[in-house]
Amino acid sequence: MNLRFLGTGWSHGVPTLGCDCPVCRGGDPKNCRCRSSITLRDDQVSVVVDVGPDFRFQALRAELKRIDAVFITHQHADHVMGLDDVRRFSWMQGEALPIWGEASVLDRLAELYPYVTQKRKPGTAVPLLKFCDWLSPVKLGSMTFTSFQVPHGNIPCVGIRIDGEAGSFGYVPDCSGLPEAALSVLEGVDVMILNALRIEPHPSHLSLAQSLEWLERVGAPQSYLTHMGCPIDYNVHNAKLPPGVEMAWDGLELTI
Ligand SMILES: [Zn+2]
Ligand SMILES: [Zn+2]
Ligand SMILES: [Zn+2]
Repeated sequence: MNLRFLGTGWSHGVPTLGCDCPVCRGGDPKNCRCRSSITLRDDQVSVVVDVGPDFRFQALRAELKRIDAVFITHQHADHVMGLDDVRRFSWMQGEALPIWGEASVLDRLAELYPYVTQKRKPGTAVPLLKFCDWLSPVKLGSMTFTSFQVPHGNIPCVGIRIDGEAGSFGYVPDCSGLPEAALSVLEGVDVMILNALRIEPHPSHLSLAQSLEWLERVGAPQSYLTHMGCPIDYNVHNAKLPPGVEMAWDGLELTI
């Protein structure tokens, strides 16, 4: 099972518009972060988690040729505003592409994109999406996708556990903490990926220090930080992280 980070940035992306800080101005590839998203692949299927406004560029950069399903963690713009571009894969693959999410998130997407489920005239291309209610674990190829609720402001938001034949990932790109129920789903994951927005606390996200505390509780042998803003500098902070924790960067691939 292969995980690739398509993006590791906060909702603004890094560089952040109008910001003159050294991270935004420095141009270091490990500090250039598209909106947070990952792909998961085994030898049968290819899946994307979250499709933000950078999705088209991210898919080109990663040379994505096929998508079998998309999972959505929550309705914030930095996680869903690339959904229109996903239809290109539906068109290429000749069938409606499944979009998995919670019912309230799917309702929101149906409002934002009313045309993506409407059949066209016979003989015209039909780039359609199929909204699928993510009520229980979803198995695709050798991978199983299990969602669990996490607090993130006042909207529903989920984290994901992905189990493959040889190991498991936990992925929580946005949250302000991990409730007991989430911790129990994450028990025993081999690799944990958790958001760390900035140094200062934030009401609906984890700061760097809070993220490290939660990662210690999860206790995965290897952990990565994602959904990071420009106050977090790869060249300053990565070397100071505890053993077994690293900052992710766009393009990083993990295989287990
Ligand atoms: Zn976000
Ligand atoms: Zn900046
Ligand atoms: Zn969010």
